[in-house]
Amino acid sequence: MTAFFMRNAISVLIHFTRYYLIFKESTLKTINISGNSNLHSYFSLRFLLALFLFILHITVTAQQVSLKRVIAVTFDDLPMVRSRSNEDTRAITIAIINAVKKHHIPAVGFVNTAKLEMDGKLSLERQRILNLWLENELELGNHTYSHPEFHSVSPEIYFADIIRGETPLKEMIEKAGGKLTYFRHPYLHTGRSIALKDSLQAFLINRGYTIALVTIDNAEWIFAAAYDKADKAKDSLLSKQVAKQYIEYMLKKIQYFEICSNELFGRNIAHILLLHANRLNADYFDKLAAALEHTGYSYTTLASVLEDTAYKSADTFTGGGGISWLHRWAKTAGKGKDFFKGEPECPANIMQIAEVDGE
Ligand SMILES: [Zn+2]
Repeated sequence: MTAFFMRNAISVLIHFTRYYLIFKESTLKTINISGNSNLHSYFSLRFLLALFLFILHITVTAQQVSLKRVIAVTFDDLPMVRSRSNEDTRAITIAIINAVKKHHIPAVGFVNTAKLEMDGKLSLERQRILNLWLENELELGNHTYSHPEFHSVSPEIYFADIIRGETPLKEMIEKAGGKLTYFRHPYLHTGRSIALKDSLQAFLINRGYTIALVTIDNAEWIFAAAYDKADKAKDSLLSKQVAKQYIEYMLKKIQYFEICSNELFGRNIAHILLLHANRLNADYFDKLAAALEHTGYSYTTLASVLEDTAYKSADTFTGGGGISWLHRWAKTAGKGKDFFKGEPECPANIMQIAEVDGE
């Protein structure tokens, strides 16, 4: 808040003078509230009115500053979450990219290179599909070769999987004139002990990776599974219902993490949204992006979000869940149960359609 006043000192003076001058003598004489026209009471009234409007002005501006809404969008499990035909994968990829481009979003896609293979060999068609991201000037990051769980395999196996994922991806990115920069942990699993967590982090930094954290973690994958079931059953009414609930849920979830951010940092930090390359987003990311814009969000790059000082916060979380970094930082800072309450849950009907037991 101090920085806000410092930065805006000149603007503050201008606004106060403007409000002061707005109250011309004639206006006040017409109002004639005080009933007498002596210079002193006129001056006081004029001063008080100006002061009132001025306070109103800075309150509104300060609120706008603390409600600044900036977000980076990421899609995991490229080229597509579930293995489908090349035609399906291509159509879904194109639909997601079109929506991303329509909203001018510098999205980053995270790849599992095992999904580029067919019958144990790199598929040229799968590579061509993935290349659409690069052709559209969107960035790609490493999400391992086969999506292993760091919490259930040995570090040696996990590290080898990162390298196996890196090789074909790096080649594709460099061919397109880019550089492989980001890594995203599958399941957001970062290690069950400080030693494991540190060793993975050191390994990634050593290989030149920037770790793509997530603040808006969510149950979008359950909605996507429900949407796939409705789609398979050719139940268009149900598909629409799932999609409607998906957008409502995502907006509530973002609102919840804004509250967490305000409580932890005293402001709404720049966020990172985690989504997946699936049919639900192929059909509805456009609507979700429009809804986000409607709530005041603007889109930015992952690089610029990671520059927000919040992302330098300490994180000693070694729990089993793949939770938002806002929760990891809060747990590290010793926040109690109250901090975490009110998190929107995936609705029961969606879990039922998706045949999923828990988030
Ligand atoms: Zn994933």
